[in-house]
Amino acid sequence: MGADLTTDVLVVGAGPAGSMTAKWAARHGARVLMIEKRQEIGSPVRCGEGMSKAWLSEVGIRPGPWINVEVEGARIYSPSEKCFEINERHAGNEVGYVVERDGFDKALAIDAANAGADIRLKTAATGVLKEGGRIVGVRAKQYGEPFEIRAKVTVGADGFESQIGRWAGLPTNIATRDMDTCLQYRMTNVDCDTRYCDFFLGTVAPGGYVWVFPKADGLANVGIGVQLSKVHGIAEPRKYLDAWIAKHPGYAKGKTIDVVGGGVSISPPVKQSVTDGLMLVGDAARMIDPLTGGGIANGCIAGKICGEVAAEAVHAGDVSKAFLDRYEKGWRAKLEEKLYRNWYAKEKLCTLPDATFDKIIDALQGVRLEKLSVHNILKAVHDKYPEVTKEFEAFL
Ligand SMILES: Cc1cc2nc3c(=O)[nH]c(=O)nc-3n(C[C@H](O)[C@H](O)[C@H](O)COP(=O)(O)OP(=O)(O)OC[C@H]3O[C@@H](n4cnc5c(N)ncnc54)[C@H](O)[C@@H]3O)c2cc1C
Repeated sequence: MGADLTTDVLVVGAGPAGSMTAKWAARHGARVLMIEKRQEIGSPVRCGEGMSKAWLSEVGIRPGPWINVEVEGARIYSPSEKCFEINERHAGNEVGYVVERDGFDKALAIDAANAGADIRLKTAATGVLKEGGRIVGVRAKQYGEPFEIRAKVTVGADGFESQIGRWAGLPTNIATRDMDTCLQYRMTNVDCDTRYCDFFLGTVAPGGYVWVFPKADGLANVGIGVQLSKVHGIAEPRKYLDAWIAKHPGYAKGKTIDVVGGGVSISPPVKQSVTDGLMLVGDAARMIDPLTGGGIANGCIAGKICGEVAAEAVHAGDVSKAFLDRYEKGWRAKLEEKLYRNWYAKEKLCTLPDATFDKIIDALQGVRLEKLSVHNILKAVHDKYPEVTKEFEAFL
């Protein structure tokens, strides 16, 4: 049995949400320990590595060497490959960088360490410690040695497959129609355009999309996300991705140098993210944008709030759910409305036939959107094809 530990704030998981929580809790004067079950922060990468950039300064992240490419915009392709281009001016904060995700995650962990957080790798939480209904830390294992970590506040930042929430009795289950299964190849010798992130919609990727995120000239992440309830067996996403690649000569000639897979939630966020002594953040709280599958930004934005509230609770000597609700209110005020709106839009979009996607992209040709939003896109479509937007009246 390893030596037991105590801390003010224990963060389980050193992804972006965990490191941001650890950094902001430490900055606000709490003793922080962040544990990570893997041997290396950020690796192996399970990410398309695309992210918007407007939020970075809000949470104190400075652009760094982890940026591969700064794109000018995004191109959205209909099934017949009509293209709607969103340049940065119109996309606002929706486009930005393609990053080296392992470098990004390490940079955030370094920030957390510089703020005073302690970090332990190869240390997995194996259960939560409960006393009188309150979470008081976790059981953990490092190099196979079991021990306990007692904490005033425990934060579950343990990602899509989170167990902390479930162990603590929080409702974190998701339906298969609210999950995407993803597969991505990093491909070299391809004809990608480093000015754009590309998205291909329709039955090429049932309930999801194919993405091409350029990492450098000739090098791109080419991936697919498909709704779990729309595929039969784990081999199917690969069939769809291979079929898309085969149809695109600029990619069919490429060579794959890396394969990653994984799941993303495309659900609304959890109904409750705090309980006595515990908070959930990032993918663990289902904060991924259900429309785009992007979760880095939301995890970091919520992580900052989570870290600040954790430190406040420690200083106040009150880690009750009632106190930690400040975090629940804080992240919901920033993220919840858009998460629900985009979940609802996703629910509708994944029922549309290819012909409707073609009409939507057709209607957007030449349209200059002041701001990229589901509402603005639908308004533009409504002007040309009112019948297409019938399903979406709630957004108009
Ligand atoms: C294929 C794929 C492509 C994606 N592409 C994009 C994209 O292009 N842009 C984007 O914004 N988002 C993307 N996402 C989503 C994005 O990766 C996540 O939203 C993001 O990583 C969430 O950060 P997090 O800190 O909440 O969780 P994670 O980054 O998953 O971090 C959780 C950490 O907790 C650790 N952990 C888990 N259990 C334990 C335990 N019991 N004890 C200790 N440690 C534990 C894990 O090892 C992991 O390091 C993609 C996801 C997938 C699967």
